[in-house]
Amino acid sequence: MNTPANTLTFSAVEPNAGLWRALEKPRADVIAEIAASGLKGRGGAGFPTSVKWNLAAAAYSEHKFIVCNADEGEPGTFKDRLILSEHGELVIEGMTIAAHAIGANHGIIYLRGEYAYLRGRLEAILARRREQHRGHSPHRSMDDEAIRARRHEHNLLGKNILGNSGFNFDIEIRMGSGAYVCGEETALIESLEGQRGEPRNRPPFPVDTGYMGHPTVVNNVETLAWATCVMARGAEWFKSIGTERSPGPKIFSVSGDCARPGVYEFPMGITLVELLKEVGAEDAKAVQVGGASGRCVPAAEFTRTLAFEDVPTGGSIIVFGRGRDMLAVARNFLEFFVEESCGQCTPCREGNAKLLEGVELLEKGRCSMAYLRELCRLGETMQLASKCGLGQSSPNAFLSIVEKFKDELMGRTAHGAALS
Ligand code: SF4
Repeated sequence: MNTPANTLTFSAVEPNAGLWRALEKPRADVIAEIAASGLKGRGGAGFPTSVKWNLAAAAYSEHKFIVCNADEGEPGTFKDRLILSEHGELVIEGMTIAAHAIGANHGIIYLRGEYAYLRGRLEAILARRREQHRGHSPHRSMDDEAIRARRHEHNLLGKNILGNSGFNFDIEIRMGSGAYVCGEETALIESLEGQRGEPRNRPPFPVDTGYMGHPTVVNNVETLAWATCVMARGAEWFKSIGTERSPGPKIFSVSGDCARPGVYEFPMGITLVELLKEVGAEDAKAVQVGGASGRCVPAAEFTRTLAFEDVPTGGSIIVFGRGRDMLAVARNFLEFFVEESCGQCTPCREGNAKLLEGVELLEKGRCSMAYLRELCRLGETMQLASKCGLGQSSPNAFLSIVEKFKDELMGRTAHGAALS
């Protein structure tokens, strides 16, 4: 496994420079800098981070919450595990910057159950940050006298952070319980409140009515780490990387049929051809971009870019070599969704089961062309009518495989007819 953690930008960012710089600014200016950077959520949805922060900042409440979504459950995704393990300080610093920006006083890290082994490491970081902190220099823009005056009085979590009277913020860790759907922010909040992890109706949105009814920002691990980098290095630095509509670098988890699987940092907008060359998979047949909920891209489209405006991804890249059976790929993802659907709404609960049945019929050569077309229409209905992102995205892999691998599937239908 290729995990070049020390080659990530995160290794080169001065610890706590972002927090010092953020606290030198009014809240609105912090959000304006995040907006100027163009940072979008790195969990996959690509929602502008500054918009979330702005809405929560504008909401009135005595209590506000910053939640770090560390429930990394997308199949083929393991980059948040590396970020938490090697760069947990940056994530926690990002939560503290977000807390300053929206006026939050509580933070929660919702940690995937299987990552329990990381809890001790993260608790140690939190404990260190609550103590008086002498390890790092504050931001270089402060003059020497200011640095000397403040070096011995600052804690990075708790009361009056970095000597800022009234900025009180602390973080606790809660463990997830293994449900994939809890990666969806409203299901995550239900789980935090001790309920069954099921998505809520929206509106209201968490930025207005979230954890315990209070304004809550839920950000992905990687998003928070990049927010810290933006504050440390500036919006212009971030914008100078990537594309106009998808600025910045991105961390990818690469697995499957490649010579060098692992965690990589590439600029947004990298083509699949370029990425596959780096990981040793030039002869791939297809790539599943975005995990089980993403889409399958065939070799003929490897010049496409990994960017929100083209092929969006939360970072999961699964490579399929020439010998892979794409119907088996579709079956694998559908089995996952049948298992993980929370069952609240009919399109997702019944739809995934029906799509899986259809794949099984195809495997037995008993699926007619007419029925396969019906299944595609069902998938499109699920995309439109399911309540949350899980059901809306669960047919993506099936639909893209049927569309892009027509020739391969043609011989599997009952009469071997063309899939037009
Ligand atoms: S789409 Fe699926 S996971 Fe989401 S609420 Fe409906 S049944 Fe539950």
